[in-house]
Amino acid sequence: MDLSISPADQAYRSKFRGWLNENLPTEFAKPDYMSLDDWNGKARTFREVQLKLFAAGYTGVHWPTEYGGQGGTLMQHIIVTEELSASHPLRFIDGLSMGLVAPTLLSRGTEAQKKEFIPKLLSGEHIWCQGFSEPNAGSDLANVKTSAVRDGDKYIVNGQKVWNTIAHIADYCVVVVRTNPNVPKHKGLSYLLIDMKSPGVIVRPIKQITEDAEYNEIYFDNVEVPADRLVGQENEGWNIAITTLMFERIMGDISTVPVFQKGLNNIIRLASNTLRKGKPIIKDPIYRQKLARLQVDLEVMRTNMYRNLSTLLKGEMPGPEGSIGKIFWSEFNQRLQETALEIMGPYGQLMKGSKWAKDDGRFAFEFLRARGNTIEGGTTEVQKNIIGERVLGLPKDSARASK
Ligand SMILES: Cc1cc2nc3c(=O)[nH]c(=O)nc-3n(C[C@H](O)[C@H](O)[C@H](O)COP(=O)(O)OP(=O)(O)OC[C@H]3O[C@@H](n4cnc5c(N)ncnc54)[C@H](O)[C@@H]3O)c2cc1C
Repeated sequence: MDLSISPADQAYRSKFRGWLNENLPTEFAKPDYMSLDDWNGKARTFREVQLKLFAAGYTGVHWPTEYGGQGGTLMQHIIVTEELSASHPLRFIDGLSMGLVAPTLLSRGTEAQKKEFIPKLLSGEHIWCQGFSEPNAGSDLANVKTSAVRDGDKYIVNGQKVWNTIAHIADYCVVVVRTNPNVPKHKGLSYLLIDMKSPGVIVRPIKQITEDAEYNEIYFDNVEVPADRLVGQENEGWNIAITTLMFERIMGDISTVPVFQKGLNNIIRLASNTLRKGKPIIKDPIYRQKLARLQVDLEVMRTNMYRNLSTLLKGEMPGPEGSIGKIFWSEFNQRLQETALEIMGPYGQLMKGSKWAKDDGRFAFEFLRARGNTIEGGTTEVQKNIIGERVLGLPKDSARASK
């Protein structure tokens, strides 16, 4: 595998960096926890910036022009993702739209769905969320109970979803529903695109340990969904859901490496500026080893990301090996944030708003938010089962299918 970036791609990176410096509002570059209580403001800023990126040809860089893309290369798309992830934390709002929904629609959607939804997603007109999990269907996603009953040219949807990131600002949701309760559970599922403004959709934010209400419950009460919003065939939604999850794991990998490099640089800065027994902590051999280990881990993650990328560059679909990166980045981030708190000592517990908090509570926020990393997108235990069964070919854990 050749890990070097071609001169043409390097030139593309420099051009994009120049464009970013000139065109992105400075408030967009603030850490996202700073405005954790202002989700409508975040959504507004996101749409404004997404539209600018779209107009300048920096969204959907490698996607077909007939759906609003630029017809460029996957490497150019990666360069844009890396640069934005490193400099503009709000990009996670489009993680779901661009990382999960668009690739699923491009590979499994109808021509009409691609033409209707992809351009609006690229321009920021539509923000998407993911409605998979339910109170009794998380790891065991096939256990979904939310029902969709066909009634002429529409489906009537009833049920409850939970933990749905940014559902409170989303325009549309990809939802896994049960269309046939009388067959083995993963055979009776379908995959619908639901307008979040439809009558009967109720969204209730859930406050997290960080104090931020980033995810939600969604209730569907006799919600009418046009039948042409079905992706794939009725009762074949399981395979479409798996496609979305494979993209979720592999794209998470790509956007997290530059974010973590920035986080590690912040922690190295923190270790240089924090004194213990009169000396900067960065001089302590124990912390030097910890920081070096984190940098080495990051390089492992980067190399694994390139391996996944080379699969995509060959035009192949992401496979179950995306679970390796998912385990690695989520556990890495927890180690990273724990190191920051160790360096800070008791100050590490102080949250945003405390006059004694360093960096306005950034490290405490990041530490608490990282706890969810090993759960979201499928838990570490479930990823291990996937690697064991589908990558290494070990015997099945159980009859249960996993998220
Ligand atoms: C921050 C965050 C954001 C999220 N965003 C979304 C979203 O946008 N959309 C969405 O649909 N969902 C979202 N989720 C939900 C997430 O996908 C689920 O929480 C996850 O799949 C686990 O499901 P669960 O919570 O029901 O736990 P359970 O499935 O009940 O698992 C409980 C425990 O049992 C273990 N376990 C379960 N099955 C097995 C097994 N077969 N082998 C070994 N151990 C097992 C798990 O590892 C876990 O430790 C989000 C979650 C978090 C934390």
